[in-house]
Amino acid sequence: MVTAGVDVGSTASKAVVVIDGKMASQIIGPSSTNPKRTAQEIFEQAMTAACVTRENIQYVIGTGYGRTQVEFADKNISEITCHGRGAHFLIPSVRTVIDIGGQDTKAISVDGQGNLLDFVMNDKCAAGTGRFLEAMARSMEIAVGDMEQYYSDDCEPCTISSMCSVFAESEVINLINDGVQFPSIVKGLLLSLSSRVSSLSRRLGVIDDVVMTGGVAKNSGVQTAIENKLKISLKRFNGTDPQIVGALGAALIAADFSGKE
Ligand code: ADP
Repeated sequence: MVTAGVDVGSTASKAVVVIDGKMASQIIGPSSTNPKRTAQEIFEQAMTAACVTRENIQYVIGTGYGRTQVEFADKNISEITCHGRGAHFLIPSVRTVIDIGGQDTKAISVDGQGNLLDFVMNDKCAAGTGRFLEAMARSMEIAVGDMEQYYSDDCEPCTISSMCSVFAESEVINLINDGVQFPSIVKGLLLSLSSRVSSLSRRLGVIDDVVMTGGVAKNSGVQTAIENKLKISLKRFNGTDPQIVGALGAALIAADFSGKE
C-alpha cells in the first residue's frame, strides 16, 4: 500500500510517502504565500524521491496550518493527531509529545496506540516557538540551524528577562554590544524558551516516555534545556528528522482510511 502525508506548516512544508508501512521518502521545504502551490511542489518531490506517481498512491492526508489548501488530498486532519501518531510509530512507548513549530508549541498526550488523548497549545505568543529562535538568530546574524553549535552545557547563561520576543531581541543586541559571548547568550535564550515550553507541558501533565517533534527539536541544546527544566529524559528518534513526524503520522493515518472509503 502506498500513502502520503503533506504537512503545510506556518514556516515549513513537509511531505512523506509511506510504502507498506515504511517511510519511502521525506521532503522539507519552506512554506510560502501560495500554500496550494507549495503543497503540490513538495508532494511531487516526495513522489519522485519514492519513485511513485499519483496514480500509485491510494490515499493522501493533508495536515498542518495550511491543510485545507492541500487540494489533492483525500482528507485533512489536525497536525496534533498526526504528530501523536507519527511519534508513536517511531517510539511506541511514547505518551507525551512536545511539538515546537514555527508559530506555535503544543504538548500532546497519546494512548498506547498513538491516539490523541489531550493537548495544550500556545499559539498566542512567539516566545517558546521557532519564531522566537529565528528572531534571536537574526539579531545575532547567524542561521537558526547554527545556533546549536554555540550551546555548551558548561557555559554560564546570561539572563534574558523580557517575556516578549520583540524586547528579547533588543536585549540580545544590547548583550552583543556589551561584549557578552555568543555561548552565554544562546544558553540564556534556550533556557528562556525551555521555561515557556516546560510550563506549557506541565499544564498537560508529562507522562513518560516523552519525545520532541517539530523543527526546533533539531537543536539538541533545546532538548537538553527542556530535560533539565522538566527533570526528565527525552527519547530521541534514531536518525529520523523530528520535523517530518507530523507528515509521517498523516501518511500512516492515510493507510487506515485507504480502502475504508
Ligand atoms: P511549522 O510546521 O509550524 O512550519 P516546523 O515543525 O516545520 O514548524 O518547524 C519550523 C521551525 O523550526 C522554524 O521556526 C525554524 O526556524 C525551526 N528550525 C528549523 N531547523 C532548526 C534547527 N536546526 N534548530 C532550531 N530550530 C530550527
